[in-house]
Amino acid sequence: MAGLRPNNVPKTEKDNRIMGSYPADCHLHTYLCRHATGTPVEYAAEAARKGLSEIGFTDHSPMPQDDFDDWRMRLDQLSLYVDMVREAQARFPQLVIRLGLEVDYLPDGEAWIRELSNLYPWDYLIGSAHYIAEGWDVDNPAKKAHWHGRDRWEIWETYFDRFTRAAATGLFDVMGHPDLPKKFGYWPEQDCTPLYEKFLKEAQRQNVAIDVNTAGLRKECREIYPSAAFLSLACKFNVPIIFGSDAHDPTEVGYGFSEAIALARNAGYTEYCRFSLRQRETISLPIT
Ligand code: ZN
Ligand code: FE
Ligand code: FE
Ligand code: ZN
Repeated sequence: MAGLRPNNVPKTEKDNRIMGSYPADCHLHTYLCRHATGTPVEYAAEAARKGLSEIGFTDHSPMPQDDFDDWRMRLDQLSLYVDMVREAQARFPQLVIRLGLEVDYLPDGEAWIRELSNLYPWDYLIGSAHYIAEGWDVDNPAKKAHWHGRDRWEIWETYFDRFTRAAATGLFDVMGHPDLPKKFGYWPEQDCTPLYEKFLKEAQRQNVAIDVNTAGLRKECREIYPSAAFLSLACKFNVPIIFGSDAHDPTEVGYGFSEAIALARNAGYTEYCRFSLRQRETISLPIT
């Protein structure tokens, strides 16, 4: 979609990098999920203000039961979600705005994910493993007590087992925040390379991308998901990447993208990708 840059893009190379050629921010939430603020129009306005050329919404998908938990949209709000993204597309023709979902993987949830994927013409689905056991969403600050007295390595192993199985379903275009269990800084002492490798082998087999997600910079772990070591390995496995701020507030659009681009380049990446109607397109990374 070249040619859709706003008219006011500055001419110098540096400013052009800051304003015009950031990768798409492919991971945005909305107020519908009950723990974020902002409408798609408000996120789009912020993206336009920052000079991004492309964004994608991936709010937390509904479950068949609305009382599954308290941090996602209800099923009857899905059409409102789609309408709001369409409204943002209409009001910001200078932006490319994609329609996606962040979908929770549960071991017995594949039929539901298939059903969801057929409801609307999604541009892409991000698959995330938040739940590592019934009632335990591993990134939920309210469940930190679950970590106490438990073996961290076992928790990480359980997470990566689910995350790898999620990739193996072939139902997702992108796998979200790959090393999510580090969120609170609860790293295991052991070397996690075997966990990363097992997942990446599956990601490669399924031709699924991963989410270079800057939300980690705003959490206790203070680093992007995935870590530098994980991302270097991902590059060796030829697993493609997208970039996402995982914004839960419009001010977070494009958050930490300079750092994310540098991390990707240092890991060996020269390209990233974006999705339209579940087709992947590859784009050169901007020079940093
Ligand atoms: Zn969220
Ligand atoms: Fe998530
Ligand atoms: Fe998210
Ligand atoms: Zn997320």
